[in-house]
Amino acid sequence: MNASLPDIAAETAPSKSPLRLLIAAPRGFCAGVDRAIEIVERAIERYGAPVYVRHEIVHNRFVVDGLKAKGAIFVEELDQVPDGAPVVFSAHGVPKVVPQDATARGLDWLDATCPLVSKVHRQAERQVEAGRHILFVGHKGHPEVIGTMGQVPEGAISLVETVEDVARLSFAEGTPLAFLTQTTLSVDDTAEIVAALRARFPQIVGPKAEDICYATSNRQEAVKAIAGECDLLLVIGAPNSSNSLRLVEVAERMGTRSRLIQRANEIDPAWLEGVNTLGLTAGASAPEVLVREVVAKVGELRSISEETVTTTEEKMVFKLPRQLLD
Ligand code: SF4
Repeated sequence: MNASLPDIAAETAPSKSPLRLLIAAPRGFCAGVDRAIEIVERAIERYGAPVYVRHEIVHNRFVVDGLKAKGAIFVEELDQVPDGAPVVFSAHGVPKVVPQDATARGLDWLDATCPLVSKVHRQAERQVEAGRHILFVGHKGHPEVIGTMGQVPEGAISLVETVEDVARLSFAEGTPLAFLTQTTLSVDDTAEIVAALRARFPQIVGPKAEDICYATSNRQEAVKAIAGECDLLLVIGAPNSSNSLRLVEVAERMGTRSRLIQRANEIDPAWLEGVNTLGLTAGASAPEVLVREVVAKVGELRSISEETVTTTEEKMVFKLPRQLLD
């Protein structure tokens, strides 16, 4: 009796009900990431392989593996770079002592620090020169935070991660203070922390807007534009990518389930059960090819109707370092 047999096809085949796929724009590579990757590629052309790169050039395994295949060798510290070898510093920036040590060793070094991070470095120097103690809003341990805090003497800068941290700060009344922020933070969290800093220390000075970069804020705005309509939002990015993690948080704060994935093969078909509208975006270090890979994978599981929701157009391009333009 067929009626009593289990319906094997129904048990094993994924649901084929149509899925609305909303793809956020802007998403993926920003101008700083484009520039950093181009610096490594051009350095390999100019110097020949291998070219050393201190720290992952950008936080994306696919990108790093692609550059390894072209002749880049990734290391965590300068002392892992052999004498005479060219070295590139990652987009996140490095403490001041790193280029100083590279110069002292006579290494050819190239700085792929994003110009928007370098701008924060210069602000940090200026605030210390003006006699102010810096309260730096950022995430402990992130390479950008290590790099920015390493621009000024130890003791001249303190890290603030949360509003609760602000309440714990103690400075004598009238102490000259300035705040600066990491570039890849949550726009909403940072506004709260900066408001708490201003309330607690009315004398504090800071940039007109936080230093959160255009790419980070644009990607968060784009997620806000679609998350309310989505049952699930996928963010393509690495677990150590600050701006990608913030995109997950933005969606979750709007009550939308969100998952961070690095590649399409991490998608569990069960996640799509009951999902009518799926959102998709990518952090600033994730290439578009990985977005298309995810779209293809979702298309294998469900029939999809794909829509791109664009909140703004980005035209930012950063110049390459002079050494690569001659
Ligand atoms: S996310 Fe922002 S700060 Fe970081 S590399 Fe991109 S543009 Fe620069």
